[in-house]
Amino acid sequence: MWLLPLLLLALFLPATVCFAAKASPDKAPENPADAPVQRLQTLLTRKNASKDALRKLETELEQARSAKSDGPNGAKATFFLARTQQEIAKRSGLKADWFKAADTFGACAERFPKYQLAPDALLHRGTIRLQRLSDPDGAQGDFMTLRRLYPRSPHASTAAKLLSRIPKATASSIKKPDIPDPTPDPPATQRTASADKPLLINVRPKNSGASARVILDLDSRVKYRYQILEHRKNKGLAGRIYIDLIGARPRPGLADSAQVSGGILKHIRVAPKDADSTRVVMDYTELGDYRVTALDSPFRLVIDAFKSAEVKAATPPPVAAQEDNAPQSFAAPKGTRKKLAADLVEQLGLSVHTIMIDAGHGGKDPGARGYGLQEKDVTLRMALILGKVLKQRGYHVLYTRTTDDFIALEERTSLANAKKADLFISVHCNASTDPGIHGLETYSLNLARTPDAVRVAARENSVTDKNISDLQMILTDLMLTSKIKESLDLARGLQRQGLAALRDKWAVNDHGNREAPFYVLMGAKMPSSLVEMGYITNKTEAARLKTDVYLKILANGIADGIGEYKQQIERYTAK
Ligand SMILES: [Zn+2]
Repeated sequence: MWLLPLLLLALFLPATVCFAAKASPDKAPENPADAPVQRLQTLLTRKNASKDALRKLETELEQARSAKSDGPNGAKATFFLARTQQEIAKRSGLKADWFKAADTFGACAERFPKYQLAPDALLHRGTIRLQRLSDPDGAQGDFMTLRRLYPRSPHASTAAKLLSRIPKATASSIKKPDIPDPTPDPPATQRTASADKPLLINVRPKNSGASARVILDLDSRVKYRYQILEHRKNKGLAGRIYIDLIGARPRPGLADSAQVSGGILKHIRVAPKDADSTRVVMDYTELGDYRVTALDSPFRLVIDAFKSAEVKAATPPPVAAQEDNAPQSFAAPKGTRKKLAADLVEQLGLSVHTIMIDAGHGGKDPGARGYGLQEKDVTLRMALILGKVLKQRGYHVLYTRTTDDFIALEERTSLANAKKADLFISVHCNASTDPGIHGLETYSLNLARTPDAVRVAARENSVTDKNISDLQMILTDLMLTSKIKESLDLARGLQRQGLAALRDKWAVNDHGNREAPFYVLMGAKMPSSLVEMGYITNKTEAARLKTDVYLKILANGIADGIGEYKQQIERYTAK
């Protein structure tokens, strides 16, 4: 159900869209910052972005900024200029570079207070002032402004946390060029000689209905391993999950134990496991499945536990493990341990073996409706057809759902991450208030081109009620770790081949491959794409979507697109 973004995107299309017209690139008003920003984001997903490449982007963004100094275009150029300078400073370690980045973030926040990333800019400047420039007073001002002007921003609580630590810090003891910001620093007074170890800063438990989430906030990346201990109890499982944070220790003053009420999670304990690691133990009254996800910027581990094995996956929940101290493989449930070596290659993005297919919507969320069809049914039929085609072509296929079940959007990519899928493909049907609109289009994740598009996509995405700036900020964070460029290549291949297949039989409109901040794609660590198979609100296309033959032909096209993408990356990696 992507009705509203479509309406918006339609504004950028020529007034008349011919049937079976050639791809008409949907040009938003040009912002000279778009191209360098995109390259920055691509660059930062790579391991070793060079200082030279960043300096070049800096120059380009400075030019973009002076070309469009007002409005959202100027805001975007300014913010990403600051981000570029921050990346340069991280690499050079020069104070001058940190000053420059702080100034540009400041300019962004002050000149464009309504820009979605204005709170980010404040947080960045405050963090730089605190950690790099020995300026706790300046930092304090930034964090207070952030809280005052943007109380609903998720950064407001980070700012509050940082603020509470500032009085304890003394300017001379603030240092640490080795920890990436905006990771909040622990109070300097808590850093003792023995304490260059990562710190577990906070443990945040939350029960919600049939699931429970525990978030562990750390001040830098750590290696970790985890294990589930289960006790059979009737049908459900009661049990315990523990996670060992290697080389980390709890922040002084962190509570070592907490009771939790209102759900399946009952109790959490934090204790040193040995000289070198910290163990967090969580006890549950019922435990059917669980998942551990690592998130960056700042680094945190999210432990989700489910009362029942409600997350429908092609693989069973992790098997019970006996109590032992043998290290489990990092970040891999026991069941997938054998695949570790292969996974390593896959994580480097060098292969396409495992594809997770996501049937859009489901259960209480029917998606779009039209001509007697419900989107959730079409997407499920397509998922199964596409899965069959891909299996025939030798791929390993996983599904987010194979039945009519509701799965939250954010769970879908988490699942793909947890199962180490190489590609994530979400299938949907489009909808419009204009019954005349029809055609095929494919999306990959990116910032939308206008603030309006962000707002619209946010509303469209809001199964949960994330506010708009949340979405945009979550996105900028996630974009730095997601595969934007690869996803774009994938979407391009899917659109091209899907269209070619369908056009053998039907005249199908080509809406091209597009970029927008769709929540269902966020956080995917693998290339991901969303295919809008056709308009359920168009009589002709609804009739086609009703038939398996249309879906089969499209599935073959999508499989060709995947093949094309696979060949592309294999070419890169071939010797
Ligand atoms: Zn949909």
